[in-house]
Amino acid sequence: MAVLAMALLGLTVTDMHAAEAAKDPSPQAAAKSKIYESATVPVREDLLAEHRAVWRRIGRAGTWWTAAERVAIAGETRRARDCELCRRRKGSDSPYAIPGEHLHAGKLSPIAVEAVHRITTDPARLTQTWVEGLMADGLSDAHYVELISVVVGVLAVDSLALGIGATLPPLPEPQSGAPTRQRPPQARLDGAWLPMVAAGEDTGLAAGIYGEAKRVPNVGRALSLVPDATRAWRRMMAVQYLPITDVLRAHKGNDLRALSRPQIELIAGRVSKYNECFY
Ligand SMILES: [Zn+2]
Repeated sequence: MAVLAMALLGLTVTDMHAAEAAKDPSPQAAAKSKIYESATVPVREDLLAEHRAVWRRIGRAGTWWTAAERVAIAGETRRARDCELCRRRKGSDSPYAIPGEHLHAGKLSPIAVEAVHRITTDPARLTQTWVEGLMADGLSDAHYVELISVVVGVLAVDSLALGIGATLPPLPEPQSGAPTRQRPPQARLDGAWLPMVAAGEDTGLAAGIYGEAKRVPNVGRALSLVPDATRAWRRMMAVQYLPITDVLRAHKGNDLRALSRPQIELIAGRVSKYNECFY
């Protein structure tokens, strides 16, 4: 998954701000550092701030899931690593031939647990038939999209924590509030497995989700059935990798990071290969 590549890219980059923040003994700085505080290397301040924001967002009600459900999705994302069924499926030629029950906390429906665990542990072998099966069993397409956005947020934070030897941050406390349950009416099936908002149609509920971009790669539209998920993904991507408007400009990035753009792409490509990213 590209997000893992981006998370790992974050490991390689330091800057003066992060170094100064790591040395800052003020109580204010200490109170802010609930995440990566046991890291033995400095973490860039913008990355730290965005990952704190990821955690806050997970703890709030989303568009379709409640705050408690979103935190439960985050918990299942972590639990999937220790799931015996997922381990056996991953080692099998066909994950669909292995029966059993996931290791789960009992806070989500079995179909939501299945979605979280498969996306977390075996993303390279997801199929349209599998996704359609989730829908047939009662998981809506919009719930599925928002679920993915929570999973990738947790994977980004946890991958960085594990990579730098920090303890995993405790899951956020669910906040009060209700899901808004609003779907952009212009989202439609357009060659992908799920409805998406077309470039140039980011209006209404989806206002501004593509920013100034004239062309939006499909990966940038993938979560657009839930506009807030797209907004969150773009913010995370901008600090973990590059602003999406700069991705197709080969010269961009050299001035933003300690690594050059070719170095960034070389590492990202290698990590994508390890993760069997078919995109
Ligand atoms: Zn599992």
